[in-house]
Amino acid sequence: MTPVRHLFSSSPSSIRSIPFICQISVMDADPSTFAADILPSPEQLHNARSKLIQTLPSKGIGLAEARRHLYEDLVPGFNRQSQSPYYYGFVTGGTTPAAVLGDNIATQADQSPQVHLPNDTVATDVDDRALSMVCELLALQPEQWPHRIFSTGATASNVLGLACGREFVLQRAAASADASVAELGIAGAMRAAGVGEVRVLTTVPHSSLRKAASIVGLGRASVQDVGIPTPRHKIDWATLEAALQLPRTAYIIAVSCGEVNTGLFATTGADMQRLRQLCDKHGAWLHVDAAFGLLARALPQGEEFSKILEGVAGLELADSIAGDAHKLLNVPYDCGIFLSRHLALGTHIFQNPNATYLNIPSTTATTAHQIPSPLNLGIENSRRFRALPVYATLSAYGREGYSSMLQRQIRLARAIARYIGSSAEYELLPRGMAEGEIYIIVLFRARDAELNAGLVKRLNALRRLYVSGTVWEGQAAARFAVASWMVDVERDLKVVVDVLTEVAKGEW
Ligand SMILES: *Cc1c(COP(=O)(O)O)cnc(C)c1O
Repeated sequence: MTPVRHLFSSSPSSIRSIPFICQISVMDADPSTFAADILPSPEQLHNARSKLIQTLPSKGIGLAEARRHLYEDLVPGFNRQSQSPYYYGFVTGGTTPAAVLGDNIATQADQSPQVHLPNDTVATDVDDRALSMVCELLALQPEQWPHRIFSTGATASNVLGLACGREFVLQRAAASADASVAELGIAGAMRAAGVGEVRVLTTVPHSSLRKAASIVGLGRASVQDVGIPTPRHKIDWATLEAALQLPRTAYIIAVSCGEVNTGLFATTGADMQRLRQLCDKHGAWLHVDAAFGLLARALPQGEEFSKILEGVAGLELADSIAGDAHKLLNVPYDCGIFLSRHLALGTHIFQNPNATYLNIPSTTATTAHQIPSPLNLGIENSRRFRALPVYATLSAYGREGYSSMLQRQIRLARAIARYIGSSAEYELLPRGMAEGEIYIIVLFRARDAELNAGLVKRLNALRRLYVSGTVWEGQAAARFAVASWMVDVERDLKVVVDVLTEVAKGEW
């Protein structure tokens, strides 16, 4: 079986001798370490479940037995999505060896970067460096994104974005910082601003945007789709501009920068400029959900990726950006990215007030030597050292490692799309999708209705790869999401084509 991350060490002094999977670069994954089976067998699942300890033991089974129990009883019941390049479900990403190393150290050293205490630990410095390197990788100026923080994921980052947005738009509507949700609550701030409704205008939003709207008190019903009719993801400008005219209404515009079913982008650089102008005119906040789209900004210029680069152009015009590191950056769960250009606004919302025992240095007057305390920038006070795996993997592989990894992922997705587009049995979706528009997702269905109904099950039943299902225009569809650092175009295409061919021939 593939080695599993070693989360435990017998002695606390062994931090320097962390075992890790293998010393290989993002460039050349070693197939001998791949998991043979991506999903546990029904027997393994049953076995793991049956061995779960049912009630709290009064005496405890001890460390040695607990270790055996975890490795022998439970681990075989987990899926091996991060250990296989042939896991194409959802957009999960794997874990690079350097990220695993960083994550193991984060666990063993158990730092909690919340207050910047430069005389006690370097943890917040690492946090800040990692976020700054993320900005550099994405061609964003770190100093333009002073409110930046690692979150638990893009969902949490969308919550942060909408929380900043609602504060901003109500203060704008009132032309006064007194109309503050942070101080008065949403109802009080809306009353103070004379605003009856805060709307979130978007196109094909990820489900988490509605969840975020629910959490921050705007409500799922506040999210309004202003896209042109299917299948495209573009903004219908007439609908958007009409939506912006309502009386006593304030607005957050949320850009879907990479949609999960198709990988399509909502905007171009010119669109982002137009959105920026509209937001400035209407006092609106411009948020971008770029959970997995964001990394596309690390691609090289040129014809091959021009459509993708166009989809992530102009993000620097946004007020806030949500991203995921546990997706395409291939670090372990959980790690999201949040960037905002408005530090004072952010610290006003997220400040942990009057915790004098924490002796927090001032966070608003940031100098080169002063790093804002993370507990005043995000949801958590105590928090995991999520920065370390990011720091480790970006240091190990650099801009080129990540750029070439993403290029391989896109090339594999396009090669799969080419095969599907030219096959008699399968159909590439959305219809009319050009090859240059394909990012890391390939949406398709079988032309034969009966085959299509069981397609995902049949593809996965061969146990050589894993795809997830979805619904497209009311019908079942399947989806390849290429997101692992272990991707190799030629090697993986062969597996995919073999499986698609076998299933089409009915040899499942
Ligand atoms: C995955 C995803 C999210 C949610 O991210 P989590 O990491 O699961 O919280 C939000 N938006 C988009 C576009 C996504 O792809």
